[in-house]
Amino acid sequence: MNSTIRREIFTRFQAVNPHPTTELEYDSPFELLVAVVLSAQATDKSVNLATRKLFLKANTPEKILALGEAGLRDAIKSIGLYKTKAKNLLATCTLLIEDHGSKVPQTREQLEKLPGVGRKTANVILNTAFGEPTIAVDTHIFRVANRTGIAPGKTVLEVELKLLKCIPREFRHDAHHWLILHGRYVCVARKPKCAICIINDLCEYKDKNL
Ligand code: SF4
Repeated sequence: MNSTIRREIFTRFQAVNPHPTTELEYDSPFELLVAVVLSAQATDKSVNLATRKLFLKANTPEKILALGEAGLRDAIKSIGLYKTKAKNLLATCTLLIEDHGSKVPQTREQLEKLPGVGRKTANVILNTAFGEPTIAVDTHIFRVANRTGIAPGKTVLEVELKLLKCIPREFRHDAHHWLILHGRYVCVARKPKCAICIINDLCEYKDKNL
């Protein structure tokens, strides 16, 4: 795919959704961190249902720790892998209090040291809480990047690095959300909705569902 076509794709995404953001509900970097950790292998909808109640009771590292493991487990038990996630969140809260003044750190290196926080989660936090032009490649972005030909790659890291290199600078910050939303609602895994896709004339996928 050439750079003119890539630019046109993101120009169209921007035209229909000028200010894209995450579907996770949050009011602070800490709430976003909790929500993103909980969202691994779970839907944003299920996370929002749990965090709406959780954040009313506990939306700081100190308050989450005060819930204790049993209390936190109970608050997030509707979410998959909740036992592991509760353990990781409590350990993360301890580290935030001890090493970061109860704040979410703003560097990838520090974020990735937090239990339950990998490269993808760090990218979401850096992008969405701190405005950096990172791209967290999840299953949706991986599929869209490969199908369309925007940034084909065999691994999520390969796709991430290609996207960062080939997306025009002015679109880089929002590209993360546009690609996720496109993969979640239009370029879906089983039967992509090519007939209503706004980039179907630019996409290089050979088996379009038109
Ligand atoms: S044309 Fe189809 S395969 Fe290509 S991006 Fe759109 S929905 Fe996905």
